[in-house]
Amino acid sequence: MKLAIHGGAPVRTSPFPAYEVIGEEEKAAVARVLDTGVLSRYLGCWHDDFYGGPEVRAFEEEWAAYFGVKHAIAVNSCTSGLYAAVGAIGTEPGEEIIVPPYTMAATATAPLVYGAVPVFADIEPDCFCIDPAAVEAAITPRTRAIMAVDLFGQPYDADAVNAVARKHGLRVIEDAAQAPGATHGKRHAGGLADIGVYSLNYHKHIHTGEGGVVATDDDALAEKVRLIRNHAEAVVEDKGVTDLVNMVGFNYRLTEPQAAIGRCQLRKLGPLLERRQANCAFLAERLAAIPAIVPPLVRQGCGHAFYVHACLFREDVAGVSRDRFMDAVRAELAPTALRETEGVNIGCGYVKPLYLQPLFQKRIAFGSRGYPFAKPWYEGEARYDKGICPVVERLHERDLFTHELMRPGMTRDDLADVAEAFAKVWEHRSELA
Ligand SMILES: *Cc1c(COP(=O)(O)O)cnc(C)c1O
Repeated sequence: MKLAIHGGAPVRTSPFPAYEVIGEEEKAAVARVLDTGVLSRYLGCWHDDFYGGPEVRAFEEEWAAYFGVKHAIAVNSCTSGLYAAVGAIGTEPGEEIIVPPYTMAATATAPLVYGAVPVFADIEPDCFCIDPAAVEAAITPRTRAIMAVDLFGQPYDADAVNAVARKHGLRVIEDAAQAPGATHGKRHAGGLADIGVYSLNYHKHIHTGEGGVVATDDDALAEKVRLIRNHAEAVVEDKGVTDLVNMVGFNYRLTEPQAAIGRCQLRKLGPLLERRQANCAFLAERLAAIPAIVPPLVRQGCGHAFYVHACLFREDVAGVSRDRFMDAVRAELAPTALRETEGVNIGCGYVKPLYLQPLFQKRIAFGSRGYPFAKPWYEGEARYDKGICPVVERLHERDLFTHELMRPGMTRDDLADVAEAFAKVWEHRSELA
């Protein structure tokens, strides 16, 4: 059998099934809301409707109960939720927030919104979340908080990172966008830190098109997030809020139809996650037969949500580069329905380490004069040079690949095709040299 990349017949030519989670329940829920004529009930002043309408409030209660947190606050994206969280913890301009470089961009831009500067700490080579030792080494007198990301669905090392935070009097914000339903002992991802944020974006496990939820057990933080969500500055006087720190509010409100969809989606999360985990277990077993591939490690005592299936590729064992190998695997497979333009959903690495983005390289965020990275706004020494996080750079350049060909909707036959493509390329790897 000739490799498809060399003109042979590919393992698979028909598209893989789409990941489709919207069904009759969501249609009925949206119709129910549309029939009321009230698509959003918020008032941006101190009034009973300051907290939103019936669907938003029911959604928040159900979310809090499901994830075992005291407060769940619906917002219009995880990005908005991260911004609100950074404001709620009282971040001051000129302070630093420690963030991982391997995450969606919003994790690292959230500090900037409040004039704080992101300081990048490297990640774990095996679990891929922020490394507690790197976090501790990055702490300075200016550090306010740590942003921990449950990357790829793996819960961050909450025991170690939270202990570092406690020791130094720092807050922890958890970005759980990729990990709804992941667990750490008895607790859920999103509820492992002072404040956690989930995403309900279309590409996530469950979604409302766009949306997010902020979770916390802390009454004061919860109320600040609610204020920031809904025009805080216009509300504080009548509400009797005297602490004006970071009380410039935004409009981060989720609509009633979205909240109604969210309630349906939440009920589907458990079964969807079980299917995803079963698919990953099947693929991990097949891929483990290839000595150059290391399937994802699940942190001790944790349940992984597998936003993507993130594996290591050992170039030294394969005798061929990751990029070349994956090109050959992609040639054997087909795109996923509804996402045809993206090609085959196998990626070499994840995002470029964020400190290498122009924003950080040029130190230009707001305006043209270097705010907030430059004096007089910032007196610290945050660096963004290539090389500051060697683990992430190596993973990105050589060792890591991720794929999404394990999402619910994939049948056993579909998964077997994926495994077969890898096996075929492995067998013929000498032809790739
Ligand atoms: C998707 C994602 C976000 C942003 O979510 P939105 O709801 O699209 O704003 C933030 N952080 C991580 C880690 C993500 O994967």
